[in-house]
Amino acid sequence: MTTVDLRSDTVTKPTPGMLEAMFSAKVGDDVFGEDETINALEEKAAALFGMEAGIFCPSGTMTNQIAIKCFTQPLDELIADQTAHVYRYEGGGIAFNSGVSTRLLNGYRGILTADMIEPEINAENIHYPHTSLVVLENTVNKGGGACYTLEQINPIANLCQQRGLKLHLDGARIFNALTATGDKAADYGQYFNGISVCLSKGLGAPVGSVLLADKETIKYARRIRKVLGGGMRQAGFLAAAGIYALDHHIERLKIDHAHAQILAEALANSAAVTNVLPVETNIILFDTIEPAGAVLSKLAAHRIQAMSTDKHRIRFVLHLDVHPEQVEHVVNVIATL
Ligand SMILES: *Cc1c(COP(=O)(O)O)cnc(C)c1O
Repeated sequence: MTTVDLRSDTVTKPTPGMLEAMFSAKVGDDVFGEDETINALEEKAAALFGMEAGIFCPSGTMTNQIAIKCFTQPLDELIADQTAHVYRYEGGGIAFNSGVSTRLLNGYRGILTADMIEPEINAENIHYPHTSLVVLENTVNKGGGACYTLEQINPIANLCQQRGLKLHLDGARIFNALTATGDKAADYGQYFNGISVCLSKGLGAPVGSVLLADKETIKYARRIRKVLGGGMRQAGFLAAAGIYALDHHIERLKIDHAHAQILAEALANSAAVTNVLPVETNIILFDTIEPAGAVLSKLAAHRIQAMSTDKHRIRFVLHLDVHPEQVEHVVNVIATL
């Protein structure tokens, strides 16, 4: 059996069908706006989420950073959970790219509420940075794939609207959230000023994210993308993978979620595991009696790769390159830990 790679859902390789779509893509110079496959991807993604326009970027970091730049001015402050990818894993880009400070909140598994956000919005006073943006993440990566329903998002969106704040969604795994909650992508647009969608996570494209917003914002976003060096040329070959992923790899995310439940149950029954955090989507966080490094070595001896997120905590992430027989293998190995 080949290695089972549970480190991340970014490790997937293009399927034959996806490669076929990439080979046959019609391309042009996207900096001139002439790559018809990129244009088609941007329009398709925007329509899917009920947004006006989209911009294809090399990474989710770039789509998030562009959104933050579009929705703030230097000296502003944004509000996010302390686990937020935009804060923790984007290299300090909020301060560097946008000159903006970050107010961090402590949501439950990274999930914020309007009641948590409201007192953190600064009053108009020259001492305080101007609060201009709230960033939500769905699903929450460091929250173990926890997700918001639209019902939970609605009061936050209302608060932002009342207080004149912009609302951005880091939707790196938004389709996992939609799969788990049953919410509709098309209903998302009305709540957010910006939505970032990763094609290279569970959807299985090799590269790429799309930022969705209104036309004015996307026009400015093209300027920022250029500044960041993200203006690509015949990148329609990559966008073709994204279109293929949207057409073929959303429906199957429920398989990853089912696999995650199977593994979570096996872990819960293991004497080597002290705690399995609630599993809502394709991510499992669990705590081990032995140091995580020791457990990872045992797993590696059985050709299972995973990552630790703390001294006694390990993360498994399911994705389209983890097949049922591999899940069975992992279940068997967990029983021997
Ligand atoms: C992966 C990820 C991103 C984007 O990461 P890139 O590697 O830059 O594409 C953004 N937000 C979250 C929550 C992620 O998990």
